[in-house]
Amino acid sequence: MIGTELLLGDVLDTNSQYLARELAYLGIDCLHRVTVGDNPQRIRECMSQALSRADILLTSGGLGPTADDLTTECVADLMGVPQITDREILAHIRELFAKRNFKMPVSNEKQALRPEGALTLPNPVGSAPGIIFVLSPEQYNPRGITGDGTKVIMTFPGVPSELKAMWAQTARAYLQEHYGGSSIWSCELKHFGIGESALAEKYAHLLDLQNPTVAPYAGRWECRLRVAAKAADQDAARLLAQPVIDEIKAGSGHTLYGYDDDTLESTVGRLLTERNMTLAVAESCTGGLVSERLTDIAGSSRYIKLNAVTYANEAKMKVLGVSAQTLETHGAVSAECAAEMARGMLDLADADVALSITGIAGPGGGTTQKPVGHVYLGLASRAADGSVVLAGKQLSLGDRLPRAEIRWRTANEALNMVRLHLLGAL
Ligand code: ATP
Repeated sequence: MIGTELLLGDVLDTNSQYLARELAYLGIDCLHRVTVGDNPQRIRECMSQALSRADILLTSGGLGPTADDLTTECVADLMGVPQITDREILAHIRELFAKRNFKMPVSNEKQALRPEGALTLPNPVGSAPGIIFVLSPEQYNPRGITGDGTKVIMTFPGVPSELKAMWAQTARAYLQEHYGGSSIWSCELKHFGIGESALAEKYAHLLDLQNPTVAPYAGRWECRLRVAAKAADQDAARLLAQPVIDEIKAGSGHTLYGYDDDTLESTVGRLLTERNMTLAVAESCTGGLVSERLTDIAGSSRYIKLNAVTYANEAKMKVLGVSAQTLETHGAVSAECAAEMARGMLDLADADVALSITGIAGPGGGTTQKPVGHVYLGLASRAADGSVVLAGKQLSLGDRLPRAEIRWRTANEALNMVRLHLLGAL
């Protein structure tokens, strides 16, 4: 990974993560990962070392037009070959500028330079392509590195979207064809409402398996089990993993809420869509966080009817019809208030399900009876005969958590409550 901004911590190195995962899918072992700044000597040293200990060297960054973009030059230098201008690429870059009505700066000509003998790694979404440089014994041995014809250098730009597009369009297939080993297929089974140790204990007999492997990971608030299998191809690997996945599915029941990229909000969205149902949310202490997460999901307009942040008592009364007496007797942070908020929202939005949230996010506002982290959730829905069914839950999240964490955890619990209701498991 090339770029001083990575060493300074200004940019998070997501390209490494992406490439590491992709290599695993191809069954190519990723042996080392190095980050180096925009310094030619150190870049060459890193490249040289990488080629002495691996067959494939992938680089990211340093393909731009400025003086500190040095990757191509370093490859040419290290390989002992001159750089030549690729006329086709130069014409392509000129055309991109012309399309945007810009005159191409002279510095961009640099992006059309290739080490002699390099193939182009096309860039479908940006100006500069990368290179595929296959090392051969004749071409290269100036600095004690032995190229045996099977080693390859592939360069990518630092911009993640460009790197990914180049990978998907060309690099993946190239590496699969020339270096692909057995394929690794993996799947993450995401759990909510069970801790990492409980999960590990429950599936202790699976954690020692060799193929597939099962490994628990604790996220910020969820627990994941990663099942990974290695076989000749993706289909065979998936088949190998399937019985273990089935066993976890059966064992985890409703604590298993989704797979891979699923989130609690996307799961709620999927369940509502499948059931052709609508949801409305009345929030107090989460200040719109649940609404934001739900509406972050594309297509959520199909099932979200109305979301409101009713923060003040007055708003709870005016908008949701919470009674003054409830607020006086039990307070805004109470099971009674949560129930009236949910009920009021169900009518107001004419939704199938209404969720309400009221609590103390802190750091101030807590009392002995209702400390910070004390939250009530309410859920109102309609039974088949049209009557309203109410459910509620009280959370004690602890008074030591920061405000943002209390809001985040409350949102998770609230979304999970809707999920369980939709599954008939509340
Ligand atoms: P450009 O043509 O834009 O100059 P480049 O190949 O020279 O592309 P860099 O200048 O090194 O790439 O990086 C461009 C941007 O891409 C950086 O500012 C950074 O935001 C992002 N980037 C660079 N390296 C990485 C990385 N390893 N992971 C994630 N993002 C990165």
